[in-house]
Amino acid sequence: MDLDPATLAVAVAQGDRRALARAITLVESAREDHRDRAEALLAALPERETALRLGLSGTPGAGKSTLIEVLGMQLTGQGRRVAVLAVDPSSQRFGGSILGDKTRMERLSREPLAFIRPSPAGGQLGGVARRTREAVRLCEAAGFDLVIVETVGVGQSETMVAEMTDIFAMVLAPHGGDDLQGVKRGVMEAADLILVNKADRDPAAAAHTQGDYAAALRLMRKRPQDPEGFPCVLTVSALTGTGLREAWAAVERLWLWRRDQGHLARRRAEQRLLWFEEEFVQQALARLHRDPRLASTLRAEVEAGRLSPPEAARRALEA
Ligand code: GDP
Repeated sequence: MDLDPATLAVAVAQGDRRALARAITLVESAREDHRDRAEALLAALPERETALRLGLSGTPGAGKSTLIEVLGMQLTGQGRRVAVLAVDPSSQRFGGSILGDKTRMERLSREPLAFIRPSPAGGQLGGVARRTREAVRLCEAAGFDLVIVETVGVGQSETMVAEMTDIFAMVLAPHGGDDLQGVKRGVMEAADLILVNKADRDPAAAAHTQGDYAAALRLMRKRPQDPEGFPCVLTVSALTGTGLREAWAAVERLWLWRRDQGHLARRRAEQRLLWFEEEFVQQALARLHRDPRLASTLRAEVEAGRLSPPEAARRALEA
């Protein structure tokens, strides 16, 4: 951690994986002096934003890590560099990370063209969003062609991931009945692809689930800028590999289309604006906490009902 930010940035840009790991540790750090260095590091990175950023969510057990491993092995086999970042804001709540508990993606983690970064201990969604965006930026600068941001579909993290990636996919297992497994509407709306996994176990159930989701998607607003057939629902088996090539082909087709039509640039521009606004909130909060006296006075006044929250916020910003 003692490398200066400029030197670290050069090593990251050369694709040095150890440097990348250290750089991500730096942006994850909550220490204030680390924050300054993290910002210097990010500023020193080359402008390289050519990776496909893929968001992937799904409930625990849906088969995300199996799927990423098989897909990752296929792609690295073609000489592509694949980074996987895990996001798990729930880890604090449950006292242990869902994503970090087991050895995941063992084969892929030994693959020289792959880089896998498990989720650090939880934290506020805002903080998680920040460090993940910055980690994506670092992976891109390090020359990865594909950056997968994986999240457990148990909280608000899906929307957050959709808002920092180019394409958002949901992985789920076939269901028995005809409910949609409580998938939130906002998540469905954000999904470009729904992958019904474990189709090897019960192909009929998988096809049934596919039909249900396809019907549900048809009822939602279609994104007029996307090509015919999207969002799409595909059945796959991460275990046997069936359907994975087709699923990846769909991801790439959509991404290239969006890129060539200019939609990708616009989406990323909107995401940068959102990032700016979220960062503003983070920084304003950090500044307030740097003045503990002011912070505790304002908090006490608000708590007692003597000062309205908007008024307290205004005073904090003006302080
Ligand atoms: P994650 O929690 O979403 O990352 O799920 P995992 O990838 O760890 O998979 C959970 C379990 O489902 C593991 O026991 C996998 O072997 C199994 N699994 C994953 N994909 C498939 C599949 O396509 N077919 C079958 N039959 N099992 C699968």
